[in-house]
Amino acid sequence: MSNLKIINARVIDLRFPTSRESIGSDAVNVDPDYSAAYCILETNHGPKGYGLTFTLGRGTELCVEALRYLTRFVVNRDFSSITDDLGAFYRQLTSDSQFRWLGPEKGVIHLATGALINAIWDLYARIEGKPLWKLLAEMAPEEIVRTIDFRYITDVLTPDEALQLLRERRSGMEERLTQLEQAGYPAYTTSVGWFGFSDEKIVRLCDEALAEGWTHFKLKVGGRLEDDLRRARLVRDRIGSVNKLMMDANQMWDVREAIERTRALADVNPWWMEEPTSPDDILGHARIRRETGIRIATGEHCHNRVMFKQLMQADAIDVCQIDSCRLAGVNENLAVILMAAKFNIPICPHAGGVGLCEYVQHLSAFDYLRVSATLENRVTEYVDHLHEHFVDPVRIRNAHYTLPQKPGYSAEIYPGTLLNYSYPDGPVWSEK
Ligand SMILES: [Mg+2]
Repeated sequence: MSNLKIINARVIDLRFPTSRESIGSDAVNVDPDYSAAYCILETNHGPKGYGLTFTLGRGTELCVEALRYLTRFVVNRDFSSITDDLGAFYRQLTSDSQFRWLGPEKGVIHLATGALINAIWDLYARIEGKPLWKLLAEMAPEEIVRTIDFRYITDVLTPDEALQLLRERRSGMEERLTQLEQAGYPAYTTSVGWFGFSDEKIVRLCDEALAEGWTHFKLKVGGRLEDDLRRARLVRDRIGSVNKLMMDANQMWDVREAIERTRALADVNPWWMEEPTSPDDILGHARIRRETGIRIATGEHCHNRVMFKQLMQADAIDVCQIDSCRLAGVNENLAVILMAAKFNIPICPHAGGVGLCEYVQHLSAFDYLRVSATLENRVTEYVDHLHEHFVDPVRIRNAHYTLPQKPGYSAEIYPGTLLNYSYPDGPVWSEK
């Protein structure tokens, strides 16, 4: 589409009152209202780009303001000037002097950067007429590498190494694509074991999930030890010894406590322990991993590629949980996916919230098709809430994500939802 220009950007504060039913609750985040700073990029020829970053309610207005600021880098700009060099575009957004003092590449401004970059990729994929996973999977290695900002990571991965890896792993893509088309990408469910759910509800949800074909289940831990153990045994009893049980402490413990608690829960055979301590404590994660022998997972609060690099260098993680919005959108996720391949650490994206499942299904498919070339030890998180608000929602079949078919990055939300759930004036909030 020639002379395509972004002429306007709308930014919306969108909040869903999920805390009213304890949905999404864990030991630390006790009352999340799943929310998003959401943006719509409007163009002179009609197509629009939709992007979001995920938040938990209060404070979303800060992301919204940061996102409004960043839209100055795309409004009144020829779209090709962005897509011709997506790496330079990433660098421009993250290098704005004065503004970068608020990060750099972390916190509110990085979340906002993620929303804008995701919207740009959505628009790009729509114009190319492909779902995002396909747009990425069909790119030449040189094109993929050009989207990545290698600053601060060349000590573990250079552009040349990334190129070589992408060239080598390209082979067999057609067979892998056939497999994804037939069976989908493996998923696990977090919906059975939210922290605020009663034992009876957990049992009922486990039974329902088993009947639907789920084989991997995640339980929130980090309460009193006896409660954690009782709930873990409850789930283990229902799902049996073959199915996988993962545990998520959501940053609850100090390092020594995390070691003790993880050892105590080892009895129930967790497939991984997720976020056992502060997300910033790279050496703490390494020690917990070393001293418990339990596989350690983290990433949903890992705020940039540099931190992921260190988690991998320090032998701190067994499972890399990229987040489509915590990292600055598609570009930075590609950097981490490639680093993980070099370290041979499986990518199991964080999802749930609002829109994260819609996003990460594309990243997982790309990872399998072009980078990891394997499904071993790989599952993508799934949570069954809020998908009805999306024009192209995820489709789960037999505990697998089916490949998205519509052009774009699957984040378009219905206009009615934008009206009803906008904060604070939408009727869901103003009429409460
Ligand atoms: Mg988690």
